[in-house]
Amino acid sequence: MSTEAATPAETLTERVVHFVDSVIAPIAPAMARGAGPSPKDIASAAGEAGLAGILTPHELGGAGGSHQDFAYFVESVARACASSAVILDVHLSVGTEPILLFGSAEQKHRYLPALARGEMLAGFALTEAAGGSDAAALQTRAERDGNGYRLSGAKTFITSAGAADLYVVIARTGEGTGGISAFLVESAWKGVSTGAPFHKMGLHGSWTGELILDSVHVPVANRLGDEGVGFRVAMAALDSGRVGISAQAVGIAQGALDVVVSTSRLRLGRSGAVDEVTLADLEAQTVASRLLTRHAAALVDSGERVTLEASVAKLYSTDTCVAVAQHAVDMCAPESADEYHPVAIRFRDAKACQIYEGTNQIQRMVIARQLLR
Ligand SMILES: Cc1cc2nc3c(=O)[nH]c(=O)nc-3n(C[C@H](O)[C@H](O)[C@H](O)COP(=O)(O)OP(=O)(O)OC[C@H]3O[C@@H](n4cnc5c(N)ncnc54)[C@H](O)[C@@H]3O)c2cc1C
Repeated sequence: MSTEAATPAETLTERVVHFVDSVIAPIAPAMARGAGPSPKDIASAAGEAGLAGILTPHELGGAGGSHQDFAYFVESVARACASSAVILDVHLSVGTEPILLFGSAEQKHRYLPALARGEMLAGFALTEAAGGSDAAALQTRAERDGNGYRLSGAKTFITSAGAADLYVVIARTGEGTGGISAFLVESAWKGVSTGAPFHKMGLHGSWTGELILDSVHVPVANRLGDEGVGFRVAMAALDSGRVGISAQAVGIAQGALDVVVSTSRLRLGRSGAVDEVTLADLEAQTVASRLLTRHAAALVDSGERVTLEASVAKLYSTDTCVAVAQHAVDMCAPESADEYHPVAIRFRDAKACQIYEGTNQIQRMVIARQLLR
């Protein structure tokens, strides 16, 4: 049995294949140059295809899919275009899932249908200059103010900053990890601003930047969960979010491997040599990454805690995608030295997977601590 196709409902699989072939693959070269459609356009196209709310139940306008469907979707998009994959992954997982898990009925009805239609794009704002790996060190403050809160602070390295309509913002309402709360902040509100997108080494089609909150009034109705549970919201979002990053990494590795295989076939046709041992290793590592990702996704679907398995999948898959992309550059040389050769693009895109949603140093710490509990 091939490991390439997971087994989501047939109609969803067909929708994903059609979306990737007709929308994502044609724009991938422009996205890699930072000249493709905006993140909002990507979300809107996914919404038209019925894929911007994969995890959202049918009654709230979503596709009612599983985390295995979600992982299949993110991998399929990343195989063609990693920039589009990170936009959609953040929208679906850390941007939308906290509302599914912690939102009130009113919040779900207010936001989930528009997110699932792709009319709204979601972002997730945890990282600050002073607190990335050490999320509990965050300094953005949420002070009580009448029937709401005033949020002030600066988030950085936020995916879709400047494009997103709604951010899940993690801010401090007190001291320690019990003094952290989560809020749903609309980009149109007074005091919300973003800087110009950063110039990254890869993922040029995905905007990444600062989110500034200057005394933003957030009604109590937009607090996500109780006051003080924000750290739990963030950690829960990251647990299943890491399954998404793992799926992205599998897609990038598979995309690089696709190019190596087609280039190697051409080379053999011209009586050239191919490093078969390395090729076999790249396939084995990519398949292993996919199975780890699928296993973690299945655990999330069964409602089990997935902290260990999500970190194992994220660590292994993202280290693999960087290694596969690097070998792909070697095996497709000298043409791969071109800045926009398909494996050069993937080599640059792969690296960020080892960094976001917890660096791989932090994943190793999480794994070791889970084992030593
Ligand atoms: C392209 C991109 C998109 C991103 N999108 C988002 C987003 O949408 N939302 C969001 O909130 N964040 C986002 N991030 C931020 C990302 O999650 C953080 O960069 C990451 O968690 C690391 O935090 P930091 O940058 O503060 O690095 P630091 O925590 O300062 O770490 C710097 C280095 O020190 C290492 N280190 C830190 N602590 C330890 C330790 N205890 N032991 C060993 N090594 C350690 C780290 O592994 C890393 O190598 C994004 C980042 C990138 C690159």
